[in-house]
Amino acid sequence: MAEETIFTKIINGTIPSKIIYHDDLVTAFSDIAPKAKYHILIVTNKPIPNVNEAQEADEKALGRLFTVAAKIAKDLGIAEDGYRLIVNVGENGGQEVPHIHMHLLGGQKMGAFGFVKA
Ligand code: 5GP
Repeated sequence: MAEETIFTKIINGTIPSKIIYHDDLVTAFSDIAPKAKYHILIVTNKPIPNVNEAQEADEKALGRLFTVAAKIAKDLGIAEDGYRLIVNVGENGGQEVPHIHMHLLGGQKMGAFGFVKA
């Protein structure tokens, strides 16, 4: 089992956060540093470090990230207008927290995709 992360502590309630959704597989809460009007993180309850470490047994939880993202978007009233889902992987992908999570960004027109650091 991978080590606990800051997101594990949020899921467990050790670190306070506004939990938007929680079930047996995933948990969603607002990003502490929002990059859009709505910026929600949907994380697997199991602390899988990143997509490279995901196993076949994790497919249900990984699929749940999408269905919960769609549910949250609908609840926020942004589903029809559209939104962006992002999963960063590893250093070059810009992943800071080693615990699989999906970013849901929306509530406004998102800018051009893809940021390349020199
Ligand atoms: P990553 O770069 O790993 O894809 O995204 C990590 C995200 O987690 C960042 O957008 C960052 O703002 C967010 N984050 C980091 N620490 C915390 C925290 O303690 N609470 C919350 N709610 N978000 C966090």
